[in-house]
Amino acid sequence: MLRTLTKDTVKKIGKKVLLKGWIASIRDHGKVVFVDLRDRSGVVQCVGQNLNKVSVESVVEILGVVVKRPEKLINKNIQTGAIEVQIEKMDVISPAKELPIPIDTDGYEIDEIARNKYRYLDLRRQRMTNNIKLRSIIANFMRQWFLKRDFVEIETPILTKTTPEGARDFLVPSRLQPGKFYALPQSPQQYKQLLMVAGFERYFQLARCFRDEDPRKDRAYGEFTQLDIEMSFVTQNDILVLIEKMFTDLIQKIFPEKHITQKPWPRIPHKEAIEKYGSDKPDLRKNKNDKDELAFAWIIDFPLFTEQSADDFYYGSGSAKFAPSHHMFTAPHPDDIGLLDTDPQKVRGLQHDLVLNGFEVGGGSIRIHDAKIQQKIFDLIGFSEEQKKQFSHMLEAFTYGVPPHGGIAPGLDRFIMAVLGEPSVREVMAYPTSASGQTAVMDAPSEATADQIKELRIKVC
Ligand code: ASP
Repeated sequence: MLRTLTKDTVKKIGKKVLLKGWIASIRDHGKVVFVDLRDRSGVVQCVGQNLNKVSVESVVEILGVVVKRPEKLINKNIQTGAIEVQIEKMDVISPAKELPIPIDTDGYEIDEIARNKYRYLDLRRQRMTNNIKLRSIIANFMRQWFLKRDFVEIETPILTKTTPEGARDFLVPSRLQPGKFYALPQSPQQYKQLLMVAGFERYFQLARCFRDEDPRKDRAYGEFTQLDIEMSFVTQNDILVLIEKMFTDLIQKIFPEKHITQKPWPRIPHKEAIEKYGSDKPDLRKNKNDKDELAFAWIIDFPLFTEQSADDFYYGSGSAKFAPSHHMFTAPHPDDIGLLDTDPQKVRGLQHDLVLNGFEVGGGSIRIHDAKIQQKIFDLIGFSEEQKKQFSHMLEAFTYGVPPHGGIAPGLDRFIMAVLGEPSVREVMAYPTSASGQTAVMDAPSEATADQIKELRIKVC
C-alpha cells in the first residue's frame, strides 16, 4: 500500500491510509489513546484502542481509516483538524529514547551547546523546521530571479588563495606541496572579477564564505552564505536598482504580510548617516515593535579608506596609515581621483551597503579596472612588493581587456535573520557553529592523528 502524507488525509475521508512519521505526542485516556503523527507535511491526530506502548518521537507506521470529526471536536489550528485517523494497526519502525532537549517549545530557552549537540533534534522543532524550509524557498526564489535575467550561476573554488576582506584566513595545509597552504575564500571576490574579464558579464552564486573572526549575533563563527553578484558595464545606480527590485519582488511573493517602510529605498551618504543617526547601519523602522515592518536603506559615498588599526593586520607593513573601508578592489569616486595623491582620506569610494532594520545585510562596490589605480591603492594601504605579488594575477588579467564592473553580496543568513526577526543568524542555519566555534553535532575542531600531521609535514607546538 502506498504511503499517504498527513496533509493529504483530508482528501481521503472514509478511505484506508498508510501513514509514516514521528509520534509528536501521545494522550493516553485509558482504553482510548490519541497519537499525533508528524511527517514532513504536517500533523494528523490518530486514535486507537489497546495500542502497544510507544514512546514520543519514535518512528512508526500507522494503518487506519480517515473519519470526519464531530463538529465540536474540529481543531481549526491544524490543517487536518477536521478529521482523524482510526488506527487499525501501528508498528514501531524505530523507537526513540527520551529526548535530551524539549522540542515542543520555540527553543530560545535552551542552552546553545545542547541545541547544537543535538541539532538533528533541535531541527525537529516547528520554528526551526519552518526557518530552514523558508531559507530553501528564499534561495530558490533568488536563483530563479537571476537566471531569468540572463545571469549565470558559477561555482568558484573553496581551496584557494587568500582573498582579503579584512578578516583572518582559514588555512589548509597542502600534502602534495609540503610547507604550502591553501586559504578558504573570505568571499569569491577575485574570482568573480576574473569572471568579468572572462566575459560572462552577469554572474551570481550562493557562495560559502569563510572568515576566522569573532562571532557576533549577526555573524556566525567561521562560515556564512552570501548571494554573490557581479556585473559588467554597469553603474552603481544599476546595481542598486536591480537589487532593490529583487528584494521587493521577493518580499511581495514570500512575505506578503510584510511592508517596506519607504519605497524607493532611501540612499543615504555615509557622512549624513553618521551625523543624523550616529550609525552607518541605521534602523529606520517607524515602529520598532511592528514585526512586519522592513526598513531597507542604501548607504553610499563611504570614504574609500579608514585609519588603519591594530585589527588591520593584513594590510601594510606598519608604515601605512590606511585600510580600505570595503576592500582593496573598490573604485574611488571618479571626481576624487586627484585626491589620491594629495588627500587620500577625503576620497570617496563607490561602495554601497545594504541596511535592513539596523543590520548591514550586504555590501558591494564598483571595482577598479585600471591596473595603475589598483597599484596606487596597494601603495596607499602599505603593501610591500611581496604582498603586491600575491595579486599580480589580477593586475595581469586587467591588461587583457577588462570591462568596467561592479557587484554586491547580500548575506543570505543575515537577510533571513532580519526578515524573520530572529535574534541570531544561527536560528536560520541548519548546522551553525556555536559562539565558541564548535561545529554542530560533529564537534570540530578536533585533533588530527599523529600520522595525519606527519604526512602534512607540519608541527603542532
Ligand atoms: N566581496 C564583498 C564581501 O564579501 C562583496 C562585494 O564587494 O561584492 O563583502
